[in-house]
Amino acid sequence: MIGSIAIEKIRQEKDNLIGLAQKMWDKPEVAYNEVNACEWTAELLKHYGFEVETGYAGLPTCVVGKWGSGHPVIGLLGELDALPGMSQKVSTVKDPVEVGAPGQGCGHNLLDVACLGAAVGMKAEMEAKNLPGTIVFYGCPAEEVLTGKVFMARNGAFEGLDCAFAWHGGKANAVSIGSSNGLNSAIFHFKGRTAHAGGDPHNGRSALDAAELMSVGANYLREHVTSDIRIHYVYKEAGTAPNIVPDRAAVWYYVRGMSRPAIEDTYDRLVKVAKGAAMMTETELEIEFLGGCYNTMPNLYMSKMTHELMEQMEKPHWTEEELKFAEELNKQSPMYEQCKANGELDNGPIHTGVAPMVAVNGGGSTDVADVQQLCPCIMVNTATCNLAAPGHSWQITACAGMSIGYKGMLFGSEVVAAAALKMIEEPEHLEKATAEFKEATKGKPYKCPIPMDIPVPQPQK
Ligand SMILES: [Zn+2]
Repeated sequence: MIGSIAIEKIRQEKDNLIGLAQKMWDKPEVAYNEVNACEWTAELLKHYGFEVETGYAGLPTCVVGKWGSGHPVIGLLGELDALPGMSQKVSTVKDPVEVGAPGQGCGHNLLDVACLGAAVGMKAEMEAKNLPGTIVFYGCPAEEVLTGKVFMARNGAFEGLDCAFAWHGGKANAVSIGSSNGLNSAIFHFKGRTAHAGGDPHNGRSALDAAELMSVGANYLREHVTSDIRIHYVYKEAGTAPNIVPDRAAVWYYVRGMSRPAIEDTYDRLVKVAKGAAMMTETELEIEFLGGCYNTMPNLYMSKMTHELMEQMEKPHWTEEELKFAEELNKQSPMYEQCKANGELDNGPIHTGVAPMVAVNGGGSTDVADVQQLCPCIMVNTATCNLAAPGHSWQITACAGMSIGYKGMLFGSEVVAAAALKMIEEPEHLEKATAEFKEATKGKPYKCPIPMDIPVPQPQK
C-alpha cells in the first residue's frame, strides 16, 4: 500500500517527534517570537537529513526543510506559535502552569510536528522506492495573528509548489472543505491633548473619545454590510486615570468576510469611520495595518482523495485512562449538554472514525488560505482533544501536552504522508487537483493582502 513505509517510519520515530512537541508545549512562544521552536525544529530536520534554512523568506522565526529533487514539489505546512493567556497543566481542571502566560491553546506544538513527521515518513518511502519529487516542510510563524503565511507568501516562500498539505488537530478526524473567513487586521491609534479632567477639561482633546466614537460608528456600520461580514475590536490603550484627559488611545480591529472584495470594501469604510471620529474630537489618527488573509479555498479533489484514504487507515486507539480524562474535560465544557443532546458523544468522549465531508463555513480564519490561492492545498484534521472542547481553550492546551494530542498528531503525520505520496506515485491525482485549481483561480494572480512596505514583525526581546 502507498504510504506503508512512511507509516512504519513515523511509528519508529515517535519518541523524537513527541519529544519536539513536548518541548514546544513546555515552552510556548507567541506569534513572531517562536525562537526556540524554530531552532528545535531546525535541529530535528537536520537530524533527518533535510537541507535546512532558518529566517526563511525574511521572517526571523520561519524554518524550512527541503529534501529530494524535481517535481512534484510538495509543501507541508507546520505552525509554530502558541496563544497568549492559554497556560494550563495537563489536568482535568482549569489550572494554569503560570497565570496569564502563553499556552498551546490551539495545539500548534502538534501542528509543527505532525507535518514534520509526515516529511520524515515521506522521505523514507521516497528513498526506498527511488521516487522523484521534492518535500518542502515549512515551520510557519504567527498563524494566530493570521499573517505569518501571508508575509511568507508575499516574500515568495511558496513559489514553485505543485501542491501543499496543512494539518490541524481538532475534535474530529476529518478533511475541512468549508470556507473560513478572510480578514484585515489593523490598530487605529488616536492622539489628542492631555489636560486636567476636572480643572481645565476644555483644553483637553480626548483620544479615548475618538476611540469610543469610532466604536459607535463601527457598530452602526455593521447594519449596512453583507451578512458574511464580522467586525470585532479590543481596546489596546485607553488612558491612565479618570482625572487625566487621555492623549493616547488605540483600538485593534478585525474585519472578517467571505471574500477579499467584501473585506476590503468594509475595511475602507471603517477607515472613514475612524477619520470621522478623529475629526469630531480634533485628534490625530494613525493607522497601523497589521495585515490580512484570504478566505479558504480547499482543493476538493485532494480533499476527497485524502478523506477516502483516511477512512481506510488504522485510527488511534484510546486507552481507558485517555477516555476518562476526555470525559472529565467534556463535562466541564460549556457545550457539554448541547453535544450530548445532539448525540455527538454517543460513541465516546474522543472522536473515532472519520467525520463525513461537509462544507461548513466556520467563522474563524486561517492563513493557510493564502497558500490555497497559490497552489492546490488542503487542510487535514485528526482528533487530538475531547469532543466537546471549546476552540482556543485550556482544555486544548491540556490535551496538546499528553498522549491524546500526541496520538492524534502521529495519526495526522501518517495521513498527510500517505496522501502526499499518492500525489507522487499516482500522477493523475496531481493533474486533477491542478485542473481544479486552475479553474477556480482562472489565472488571476495572487494579490497579497499585505503590501510590500509593511515590515515583518520581529521577535521581542
Ligand atoms: Zn490553530
